[in-house]
This record gives sequence, structure tokens and C-alpha cells, in this order.
Amino acid sequence: MENLLSSFQAIAYILAALLFILALAGLSQQKSAARGNTLGIIGMAVALVVVIVVALAGSGSHLLTAICIFVVTIAIGAVIGVWRAKSVQMTEMPQLVAMLHSFVGAAAVLVGFNSFLATPGANTPENAYHLGEVGLAVFIGAVTLTGSIVAFLKLSAKISGKPLTLPGRNILNLVACIACIACIGWLITTRGVEAGLVPLVIITVVSLLLGAHLVLAIGGGDMPVVVSMLNSYSGWAAAMAGFTLGNDLLIITGALVGSSGAYLSYIMCKGMNRSFISVILGGFGEGATKGGGEAKDYGTHTEIDAEGAALALKNAKRVVITPGYGMATAQAQFPVADLARKLQAMGVDVKFGIHPVAGRMPGHMNVLLAEAKVPYDSVYEMDEINDDFGDVDVVLVIGANDTVNPSALTEPDSPIAGMPVLRVWEAEQVIAFKRKMGNAGYSGVVNPLFYNDNTDMLLGDAKASVEAIIAAL
Ligand code: NDP
Repeated sequence: MENLLSSFQAIAYILAALLFILALAGLSQQKSAARGNTLGIIGMAVALVVVIVVALAGSGSHLLTAICIFVVTIAIGAVIGVWRAKSVQMTEMPQLVAMLHSFVGAAAVLVGFNSFLATPGANTPENAYHLGEVGLAVFIGAVTLTGSIVAFLKLSAKISGKPLTLPGRNILNLVACIACIACIGWLITTRGVEAGLVPLVIITVVSLLLGAHLVLAIGGGDMPVVVSMLNSYSGWAAAMAGFTLGNDLLIITGALVGSSGAYLSYIMCKGMNRSFISVILGGFGEGATKGGGEAKDYGTHTEIDAEGAALALKNAKRVVITPGYGMATAQAQFPVADLARKLQAMGVDVKFGIHPVAGRMPGHMNVLLAEAKVPYDSVYEMDEINDDFGDVDVVLVIGANDTVNPSALTEPDSPIAGMPVLRVWEAEQVIAFKRKMGNAGYSGVVNPLFYNDNTDMLLGDAKASVEAIIAAL
């Protein structure tokens, strides 16, 4: 019976691991993302079922208690999960993801402590190895826990998004890391609960502070990288928890999440022209004037109304739409998709240009456009479309600001200097949608694009403005 169960477990783990790998492969392409998601859900269901079956089989005379614990915890988790998934707005997704990462961190810390208390110390090399795993799980888990909570608070604007720059902050981080590694070494040499708890508690406290400080020091335009970096940390925390629990599937899954999160962070850093190390060291955006608009005088702007915009679009041959965070807050993706279809029916060539960090999470704009049934073949990545703006008649900048800010290329002292942007200003005419002048973008810097001669501002809520253009057309 035991052999049968362990064979069933091994096969189910291999199947779930394969499904997770196929899910990641599917998620890498917009066309196959829905299939990838389904495969991931099946993989997770297989993993859950096998873990529960194995746990129940090993519960002996406590079978009924074990069943009750599973039913109650799964019911509570499922109710909260379904409620949050149904109630969350697309604009709140990044903070929800950050919050979920903190749960993984908390789980790794709890698993580490539990594992330590269950097998506190014996004078064997295996136990030293086990204590090393516990120390690492608690270290990575605690950093992920507080780092994710701070990211959640920043993204939901419950605390300021500005970087906290303590004097000597990099030295502080380094000292905290060295202290944690030294305490893991100390933990390995201890025998018994009392002796081991001292370094374990020090590791926990120091890494909780380290996680919070690491993310507090990061601000402005670097937040997307932080979200994917925490995603990576949560994966490594889960992998470490897998080691302490002796669960191969958790090790594989954690490693998949950890490495894909690290790779995504690398791609995003490339997209923003920032080095990964400079992001981790923080301090970005210190000089930004959040919400301000007075830092530099770029002259006066010109305005256009919906009728004027409709006329410009009617006379255009090539139109590019570059959406940003404002399209998400206005929920304007449906009228924007309608407008694109209407123009295409009139013979206008309409494309969408997507900046890699437009919106508030990786792929934010792609998700919204897919929701509004915009065909994938009219959606272009920044690198695919950036050289074509010179041939475009009208660009509609719908609620985008930082991602179309020319000062990233022209002002070396700008907080977003060096970040690649969509060069929309090379088009013949730019129509920019925002609610009012003076509001800056996410990194708090003013956008001179709005004051260019070939830019007209269409002020007001993006959804209402686009609907008014459709009516005028
Ligand atoms: P920004 O956040 O820079 O600018 C948003 C623009 O939308 C503003 O001009 C704002 O002006 C306008 N806007 C807001 N609400 C409305 C509305 N209802 N109707 C019309 N306009 C509106 O957007 P981008 O997408 O260009 O840039 C994304 C920024 O977010 C980057 O700095 C990026 O680094 C950062 N970021 C990205 C993440 C990601 O993973 N993609 C995660 C976290 C941060 P106004 O207020 O006047 O309406």
C-alpha cells in the first residue's frame, strides 16, 4: 500500500511539474496565454489532490481531524480567494499580487519554524544540513514577507511611493545580509531548541527589517521591477520551504517561479535601461516632483475637442494608439477598441503600440486590449513600432505619460533618464488624453510632449473622450 502511494505521488508530481512548465511556455505568448493558464490550474489541482491524499493516508488514527482541518482551511481560502478575484479591479492587480507574494514569504517562515521545532537538533551532519535549510527558508521568506507588504502599501498609495534614502543604506543592507548569513552558520552548530531559537529569531528579525528597508528604498518607475523581483523571491522562498518539507514538487515549482521572476526582472530592467543592481540598491526617483508640474516651464499647450480629433482621424491614413495607465483607470479599453474597429472599417490603418512598463503591471495593456477583443496582430511591442512613428499621421496617447516622455532621452538629470520610450512625437500629429494639465505621470516628472507644437491635448476622462470621438465620427 505504501509503495503504491509513493509511486502515485511520484507520478503525480512529475505530471504537475510538466503541467507547470507547459503553463509557463503558454504564458509567454499572448495567443497561448489562456491555454497556459488552464494548464497551470490543472497542475495546481493535481498537486493539491496528491498532497491531501498523501497527508490523509499518513494521518493514521487522526484521519477525521485531518479531513476537518483540510475542509475548513480550503473552504476559508477558497471563499476569500473567489471574493478577491471577483472584486479586484484591474488597476489593483499589482498590489494584490504583492500581497499574495507576502503570503508565500509568511508560509516559508512558518514552515521553517515548524520544521525547526519538530526536529530541533541532533548531533548529526544531516541535521546541520536541515538547520541550514531552515535558516535560509526563514531568511528568504522574511525578506519576501515585509518587502511584499511594503510594495503592497506603496502600490495602493497607503504610504508614499518616494524612495526612503537612509544615510549609508547600502552598507546597512550589506551588514544585515552578513549578519543573517553568520546567524545561519551559528544555527547550524546549535543543538536543541533553546540554543537554536536565539540565532533563528535574530535571522527572522533582521531579515524582516531588511525586506522592508530594501523596498522602502525603491521608488517611482522602478516599482514594476520590484513586483517581479518579489515574485522571484517568493519562488525561492517556496523552494526553500520545499527543502525543509522534503517536498520535490514544491522545490520544482519554487525554482520555476524564482527563475522566471528573475528573468522577467531582467527583461524589465532592459526595457527601462536600468541595471538590476541599481534597482536593488534603490534610491531611484528621489528628485521627482510627484504630482507637480512646476519644475520646468515647457511653454503653453494647445487643446482639441472630440470633433477636432474625429476630423483628424478621418483624414488620417495611419493611426497608432499608445495606451497607458489612464486607459486602465478610465476603463476606456472597450470604447478604444470600438474606435479602432470603426477607423479600420473606414480604411484607416490602426495599430496599438505597447510600452513594456505601461500601466501598473507587466502586460497590463495587453490584458486590457485582449479583454476588449482587440486582435493580437494589431498590437505591437515598443521595439516593433518605435521606428515607424515618422510615417504615422495621428498618434492617440490614451492616458500614457512616462512611457511617452521625451525627457527620458533628452534630459540626463531626469529621474527617468535613459528609460526607452515610445517616440510618438515623431508622428505628424499627437492627440494626448488626460484629465487635466499639471498632473504628472507615475514617476512624478512633467512631460514636455504635452507642450509640443504637434501635440493637442484632449482633456477629460479618457472613456468619455473616446466615446465622444466615436459619436462625432
Ligand atoms: P503614467 O502613470 O505615467 O501616467 C498616467 C496618465 O494617465 C497621466 O497622464 C494621467 O493624467 C492620465 N490619466 C489618469 N487617469 C485618467 C483618466 N481617467 N482619463 C484620462 N487620463 C487619465 O502612465 P504610463 O502607463 O505612461 O506609465 C506607467 C508608469 O508606471 C511608469 O513610470 C512605470 O514605470 C510605472 N509602473 C509600471 C508598472 C508596470 O508593471 N507596468 C508597475 C508600477 C509602476 P491625469 O492625472 O491628468 O488624468
